[in-house]
Amino acid sequence: MSRTTGTAGGTMGADRPEIEIRGLHKSFGDNHVLRGIDLDVARGEVVCVIGPSGSGKSTLLRCVNLLEEPSRGRVLVGGTELTDPDVDIDAARRRIGMVFQQFNLFPHVSVTGNLTLPQRRVLGRGKAEALAVARENLERVGLAGKADAYPAQLSGGQQQRVAIARALSMGPEVMLFDEPTSALDPELVGEVLSVMRVLAGEGMTMMVVTHEMSFAREVADRVVFMDGGVVVEQGPAEQVVTRPARERTRDFLNRVL
Ligand code: ADP
Ligand code: MG
Repeated sequence: MSRTTGTAGGTMGADRPEIEIRGLHKSFGDNHVLRGIDLDVARGEVVCVIGPSGSGKSTLLRCVNLLEEPSRGRVLVGGTELTDPDVDIDAARRRIGMVFQQFNLFPHVSVTGNLTLPQRRVLGRGKAEALAVARENLERVGLAGKADAYPAQLSGGQQQRVAIARALSMGPEVMLFDEPTSALDPELVGEVLSVMRVLAGEGMTMMVVTHEMSFAREVADRVVFMDGGVVVEQGPAEQVVTRPARERTRDFLNRVL
């Protein structure tokens, strides 16, 4: 994890973090939610973000792909500054896949349609290519057999795997997950986490907001504990989850573990 952020030598950007968050603040009216976040995520790194409800975890993720506009500070993904007013935000955002707690599938089209429509509309891919990419990603999440099903015919776990396949079909360099298993019945959590584990193993750069401490411990390269809109503590999962240095982190873990 000791990667340098400098550009000295080598190709420009080759060793800079995939995600760079600098002095990030976000307010909603008088509510100062993010209060100065500095965070890097290296290429291929899996960072789990934990913390109490209302601490700003979702807002942080949403600022990373500019679903929310930061009030102050900078966000760079793959070396492109998303907070630069001159940047082509749609192009920059295509590098970032996002998976939400609610799967947000299009209810009136098939699983295949859910995967091909965004590719065709946003990326301008032809029908055959979009279909091939959709098939490949359905296979990746273990749902090749559900290509013609409609979302309502699938379990929550299957719907979330479709949502992941849909995001992957856009060819993202980074994947953001906001409590991807929180809406699922307990017996369906495992299948979604397995897909995420495989993605992590393939070297995907991932930021994952989760309450699944065993997942964090097993898969995350780093765990970030947020409270009150700041990063209170971060480090290797084993350290933050099992031997937290800060009292606020200990209190939180005692409540969730
Ligand atoms: P977490 O994901 O850690 O539970 P959030 O980022 O969702 O926290 O919320 C942090 C704070 O920001 C909360 O006080 C919430 O009410 C507020 N907030 C989040 N999104 C909005 C929004 N779109 N408009 C106004 N307030 C918001
Ligand atoms: Mg949230």
